[in-house]
Amino acid sequence: MSGSHKQTCGAKTRRGTPCAAPVVQGMARCKLHGGLSTGPRTDAGRASIAAGQRLRWRTWRERLKKNDP
Ligand SMILES: [Zn+2]
Repeated sequence: MSGSHKQTCGAKTRRGTPCAAPVVQGMARCKLHGGLSTGPRTDAGRASIAAGQRLRWRTWRERLKKNDP
């Protein structure tokens, strides 16, 4: 999958729409979504990120619920 078509990031934004920013060359995401990062390299790092993301999601959902009119 390489060619003239510019790949877009596609990360889900908080609005629920896919990010339309062009990816960082050779990466899967735009620079706002971790394209500049090398990503998790170890299992421990991966687990740590997964745990952090779960917590973050839960906090975010709770906040949404509270803000619901
Ligand atoms: Zn993006």
